[in-house]
Amino acid sequence: MPTPTPGIHHVTAIGSDPGRNLEFYTRTLGLRLVKRSVNQDDVSVYHLFYGDHGGTPGTSMTFFPYPDARSGRVGTGQVSTVAFLVPEDSVDYWTDRLADAGVDADEPRERFGDTVLPFRDPDGLPLELVARADAPRGRPPDGPVPDEHAVRGFFGVTLSLTTATPTADLLQTMGYDEADAKRDRQRYVADGDLGYVVDILEDPQAPRGQPGAGTVHHVAFQVTETEQPEWRDVLIERGLRPTSVIDRKWFKSVYARTRGGVLFEFATKSPGYTVDEDLADLGERLVLPEWLESRRNEIESGLPELPVESG
Ligand code: ZN
Repeated sequence: MPTPTPGIHHVTAIGSDPGRNLEFYTRTLGLRLVKRSVNQDDVSVYHLFYGDHGGTPGTSMTFFPYPDARSGRVGTGQVSTVAFLVPEDSVDYWTDRLADAGVDADEPRERFGDTVLPFRDPDGLPLELVARADAPRGRPPDGPVPDEHAVRGFFGVTLSLTTATPTADLLQTMGYDEADAKRDRQRYVADGDLGYVVDILEDPQAPRGQPGAGTVHHVAFQVTETEQPEWRDVLIERGLRPTSVIDRKWFKSVYARTRGGVLFEFATKSPGYTVDEDLADLGERLVLPEWLESRRNEIESGLPELPVESG
């Protein structure tokens, strides 16, 4: 078996207004725009990548913001919540910060011993901040949030499923161990220090999710480039139908639709977001993989204006 995954590499979701998306994730949540590109499968749409200072695997939340996207419905067969890790004593700071920004947020609550602050992004995507003493310091972005309270990266994701078993089995094969369970929530934990939690909410009666703005498109897990083909074989042995290895420029990807309906990706840690931009300049200009560079003028003229977000 290939080496267990340490956790999530990135999460990709669907948004609507790209400017509003950029504003929320950089100004309100304080993440850095680490890559400004296009959806490689639909170049009329941006692909915006947010993360820590360098877009370290485990910190990178990415969006396809379709300006006219219809709202989706969060439901089964999807990642139904994305959780970010913040330092343990940051709950009051974030409660006030989200309230001041007019964010749709709930009261903090307790879950498996952690304080959890649930809220929604401007498209209604369910998010959480999970406050923990062991949040790694990392390299926070030079943004509006002080380092002591900055988002460290992902805590994990929640999957909403009608039947947990096939997905839970796959997660265990990937190196996630069952750690906790309470009522309808089962927790699986990997060995990394970011993005190491997958919760499964099982509800046979819950409505099925529908793709659209405010829903997650897929969750990607970290693998090494040498072991990526082995992971692909594991998926085939389990009866899934993974894609071939796709070069995404900043990482290589294999995708597979899991039996529970959630789209999983197995993404390489290298080469990373600094392969085509200096660390200091990440996200400042539209970057395209070489195979799209010849179409730059056409692509740029088809995209909506976005403010330049530096630092
Ligand atoms: Zn992806």
